[in-house]
Amino acid sequence: MLLDVHDLHVEFHTRDGVAQAVNGVSYGVDEGETLAVLGESGSGKSVTAQAIMGILDVPPGRITGGEVIFRGRDLLTLKEEQRRKVRGAEMAMIFQDALSSLNPVISVGDQLGEMFTVHRGMSKKDARAEAVELMDRVRIPAARERVRQYPHQFSGGMRQRIMIAMALALEPALIIADEPTTALDVTVQAQVMELLAELQREYRMGLILITHDLGVVADVADRIAVMYAGRIVESAPVHDIYKAPAHPYTRGLLDSIPRLDQKGRELYAIRGLPPNLMDIPPGCAFHPRCPMARDVCRTDEPPLYEVTESEAGRGSACHFWRECLHG
Ligand code: SF4
Ligand code: MG
Repeated sequence: MLLDVHDLHVEFHTRDGVAQAVNGVSYGVDEGETLAVLGESGSGKSVTAQAIMGILDVPPGRITGGEVIFRGRDLLTLKEEQRRKVRGAEMAMIFQDALSSLNPVISVGDQLGEMFTVHRGMSKKDARAEAVELMDRVRIPAARERVRQYPHQFSGGMRQRIMIAMALALEPALIIADEPTTALDVTVQAQVMELLAELQREYRMGLILITHDLGVVADVADRIAVMYAGRIVESAPVHDIYKAPAHPYTRGLLDSIPRLDQKGRELYAIRGLPPNLMDIPPGCAFHPRCPMARDVCRTDEPPLYEVTESEAGRGSACHFWRECLHG
C-alpha cells in the first residue's frame, strides 16, 4: 500500500468549542490507484487530505490521533523539514482555486521552472525547457509562447492545467486533488478530469480525488470512500457503489445526481443539513436525515461493518446495510 491512513483524528479549537472534524478515518491508496473521497462540505474530506499533506499543523487544527503511513513511514512522526521534502517531491496537492494558489506576478514558466531549480538544482534555462514540456504534457496549446504569460492571462481550465503541471513536475507517487474541477464550467470540468485521469495512468501515481460530486468519479475512480461528519460511512469499489449503495447516505448522493435520461424529473435532495461538528448527533450521526432511521440508530453508533457480500473489500457504517443494499 502506497498510503495507509489509520484511525486519524483531527480537532479544531475555536472560541465556540471544539469541532470534531475527523473522527477515526482509515483509508488506503495503492500505487496506480484512484480513490475518490466523497462528501458534503464539512464532512472532513479536505481536512483529512490536509493532515496527510502536513499542511494542517497550524492552530486551530490539531491532529489528535492516528497514523499516516506513506511508503512505509509514519508521516505524523516526521519533523517539519523532512515533511517539506516529502511534499512536492513525493506527494503533491491540487486545489480548487488555481488563481489563489499561483503567484499573480510571476510568469507561469518561472513558477513551473522553480520546481526544477529549487528541488533539482537545474539551471534557469533547463528549468524553462522542462516548464515548456510540462505545459505540453497538460496540453496547453502554444506552450513555448505562453510560458512567458502570467496566471490571469489563462482561462480557468488552462490555469487548472497549470496546477496539474505543477503537481506533476517532480513526478510524485501520490497526488491529492481537492475539488480540482469544481470552479470550472461543466464541459471544461470533464476535459480537466479526463486529463488528470490520463496522466494518473501514465505516471502510475496514486490519486486521491476529493469531490462532493458523485457524478464526476464514475469513470476515473477505482474505489470510493464516502465521508459524513468526519467518518467514513461507506467504502467500496466504484462499480459496487453504482450497482447498489450499502449506506442510505450514499443512496441519497446517488439519487441526487442529475441524469440526462431523466430530464425534467425533479432532483432528489437529501433532507436537512450536515451536522454541526461541535455537536455531532449521538448514535449514527446521519440519523436525523436518514429515511431508514429507527430507535437503535439514535443510541448506537454503527461501526464500519464488513459488507460480506462483496469480494473486493467493502464497508458500511449502517446497522441496516443489508436492507439498504437490497432495498
Ligand atoms: Fe440510517 Fe440507521 Fe443506517 Fe444510520 S444506522 S444510516 S440512521 S439506518
Ligand atoms: Mg473542501
